[in-house]
Amino acid sequence: MLDYKNLLISQKEFFNTNATKDISFRIKQLKHLKTILRNNEKELFEAIYTDLGKSAFECAVTELYPIESEINKTIKNIKKWSRKRKVRTDIANFPAKSYIIPEPLGCSLVISAWNYPYHLSLLPAIAAIAAGNTVILKPSELSPKTSSIIAKLINHEFSEEFFYVAEGGVEETTELIHLKFDKIFYTGNSKVGRIVALAAANNLCPITLELGGKSPVFIDDSCNIKMSAQRLVWAKFLNAGQTCIAPDYVIINERIEKEFLEELKKNIDKYYKLNLDINENYTKIINERHFNRISNLIKEKEIFYGGKTNKKNLFISPTIIKDVDWHDNIMQEEIFGPILPIITYKEIDEAIKNVKKKDKPLSLYIFSKDKEIIRKILKEISFGGGCINDAVMQLSNNKLPFGGVGKSGIGKYHGVYGFNEFSNLKSIVHKKFLFETSLKYFPYNNKKLSILKKLI
Ligand code: NAD
Repeated sequence: MLDYKNLLISQKEFFNTNATKDISFRIKQLKHLKTILRNNEKELFEAIYTDLGKSAFECAVTELYPIESEINKTIKNIKKWSRKRKVRTDIANFPAKSYIIPEPLGCSLVISAWNYPYHLSLLPAIAAIAAGNTVILKPSELSPKTSSIIAKLINHEFSEEFFYVAEGGVEETTELIHLKFDKIFYTGNSKVGRIVALAAANNLCPITLELGGKSPVFIDDSCNIKMSAQRLVWAKFLNAGQTCIAPDYVIINERIEKEFLEELKKNIDKYYKLNLDINENYTKIINERHFNRISNLIKEKEIFYGGKTNKKNLFISPTIIKDVDWHDNIMQEEIFGPILPIITYKEIDEAIKNVKKKDKPLSLYIFSKDKEIIRKILKEISFGGGCINDAVMQLSNNKLPFGGVGKSGIGKYHGVYGFNEFSNLKSIVHKKFLFETSLKYFPYNNKKLSILKKLI
């Protein structure tokens, strides 16, 4: 195992040369990263396919192109984001200028997950570099091919004192999280999120936690049933349900349940013409442990549709389970697989109440034309982000901050939000030597107090 302590010392020394504070240095690194990734697209596609069986199209849409697009947008905006941000000066400081200087936090550690092994590794790294930090990236050991090619490319093309990819599993991550980084950015499950947070707390190191949870979908009887079902099927079964913001379960008005279920079935038949072998357009389950976990969830209730499994190929077909109750096992943990449980409701208030009993979700989706119902859900339930009349697509707009709330995460990223997450927003009041009032100085008296009251 590489000596991470010494690696971090060398990154700190490099950071202290101020090289990364130069915006043109950051732009150069991002352009270089883009070129390397582009030149090695074929190898990257193959690695992701080996790890997850993702089709070339899905891989392009969810992995490679979002990264290229984020690099492009970052390069375009980096000068604006890193500029001094002027704010108004308050009366107590008049006359003066007030401004914020975004400065890099220093040496950052990025730990990522296996489900979008390329995207989730590089997106935070781009933000870290854009904000002027050094980076040690620890990709997931559960997607070894992708992690290995990312390591090979980055470690060959960048100096390790600036950007290094540390492969490995729990042992390596454990060592890394206890070092004195200036920022730790973690993507993965909340159990490990807590381990990371506790380790970081020892060094009072700021963290971003991109976690998961159960993301609900409200289907109201005013919605366009056909289009809602079509959009939901795509979002749920993308990456075989192994998406942090995937719709986890559906809560539907009982009046339209039957019709909606039929539409779901039609769409699954239309888009997933699957047999029990690995299919070109359908991702496999990452490993046997997750395959067994998801398969066990299917066994507990009556399957409405799907439920086909093949352990040899780690295949689980798109599956719908109806008549689900809030107390069922499937409703206790994030599913993170291609199973969609359906719960019905009579009154929207009762459905909202049940969702609020659970941890705050990473995402929430509403399919409805009823403005009052949309307003009510948005007002009453706290969640990271979501869509109205679609699902998952909030991720594609990098003008929107991405991240959870409560148990689904701490902090936001994408675009300027990622830049800010890896920055210290240094606040400055800048005065000249024009004059000085006596108001704040001793002796304090009633006259000064009444002037102060008027000013406030
Ligand atoms: P994972 O197993 O790849 O783990 C994530 C990282 O944690 C890896 O780099 C791994 O090495 C490290 N790790 C694992 N156990 C550890 C331990 N005991 N101590 C220290 N480090 C450890 O991925 P996962 O956790 O299975 O990912 C799936 C979860 O992540 C789901 O809950 C999903 O919702 C969530 N997720 C969230 C986002 C988001 O952006 N919010 C994105 C993807 C996944």
